[in-house]
Amino acid sequence: MSETPETTEDGSVAETTEDTSPPEANGDGSVPKAMTVDAKLGLDVFKLDDEPHIEVDHEVCRAVCAKKVCLTVCPADLYELDDEGGVTVNWEGCLECGTCLLCCEPEALSWKYPRGEYGVQYRTS
Ligand code: SF4
Repeated sequence: MSETPETTEDGSVAETTEDTSPPEANGDGSVPKAMTVDAKLGLDVFKLDDEPHIEVDHEVCRAVCAKKVCLTVCPADLYELDDEGGVTVNWEGCLECGTCLLCCEPEALSWKYPRGEYGVQYRTS
């Protein structure tokens, strides 16, 4: 979402206070490379509960969902088609983003956050 720029009393656009300086260089003067999404995801830690926090109702899924968007929207790529055309979810690697909950047919998916202390723990380094 873009913010409206601040204006001064005379109506001119105020100078930005945002830090636009380039990223700090490494000790050898080279510019650090941005981490890839996969590298960032690799830092995350998952504490698994005994019970899944996401379950697919296979009957409903087959009956009401033709598009199977869960196979493409999950950023962790956790949904798969089995040999019989049914959808399975590997909930253990869930990032708890809720995208599948928004995209899936409501009757076909049971979704809740993992119990306290379980689930994904995001790390930045
Ligand atoms: Fe994938 Fe996000 Fe759904 Fe978890 S909540 S299964 S990461 S889409």
